[in-house]
Amino acid sequence: MVGSVSTGGIFDSHVHVGRWVLPDFRGHSTSLEQSAAVLASSGIDGALVMPTDSGDNAGLIGSLASYAGPVRFAVAAWAIPDDSAIGGLLDAHDFRAVKIHPSFCRVPVNHDSWSPAISAARQRGLPVIVHCGRWQEMAGYGLLLQAADAWPDVKFVMAHMGGDSPSLVLSAAVGVASRGLRNVFMGTESIREYWIVAEAIGIVGADRVLFGSDHNLNSPVSFLAVIDAIGLDEQARSMVLGGNARKLFGFDNG
Ligand SMILES: [Zn+2]
Repeated sequence: MVGSVSTGGIFDSHVHVGRWVLPDFRGHSTSLEQSAAVLASSGIDGALVMPTDSGDNAGLIGSLASYAGPVRFAVAAWAIPDDSAIGGLLDAHDFRAVKIHPSFCRVPVNHDSWSPAISAARQRGLPVIVHCGRWQEMAGYGLLLQAADAWPDVKFVMAHMGGDSPSLVLSAAVGVASRGLRNVFMGTESIREYWIVAEAIGIVGADRVLFGSDHNLNSPVSFLAVIDAIGLDEQARSMVLGGNARKLFGFDNG
């Protein structure tokens, strides 16, 4: 945790800092200070930051050490398959979550290779954020539902609401609700269709959805506009825009 304890305000639960390796992202890069300036100008005062696909946990921790604000950050550790060192990493810093990216790592979340990371998160009571996308064999929401069944005392965040398409979002929400999975949250990052976000909130409940932008790839205001377009009542809006994430990541507890 960086900065002072705070309640309220908008919390972005999915922010990357650093340089991307994937050629598609053209070496795009932001420093922590640059990302903080973008978030602050978007009206966001707290965020969960994580490395890019470079997996540079040490670089992110290093830049947080000299960071002075204005946005307050919680940090997620980027895990890799068969990561026997992750327990030591999680104990060495004040991480608030673990990030798993099946597509970049080429290992589905329900594969045994992720057990060290999920187990280390479980032992420390940390939620696990899992990238979900259109590549069903590698990053399908159904694989995360299986993992959530297998690890009932681990809280999972289904990134991109289960996959970046309206039909995937809808199926994912129905899957969470019909299996009665109390340990799965859905992150809104990169979903543009406000009406499908609204439908998913109706299915899983406003207490299970976290606003995220996927900055530094996306502009946070674009995805805040999606939440605004839903027209949630004040209580649901404040839960989605920050209350749920602050609770999940222990952000208000110092
Ligand atoms: Zn992301």
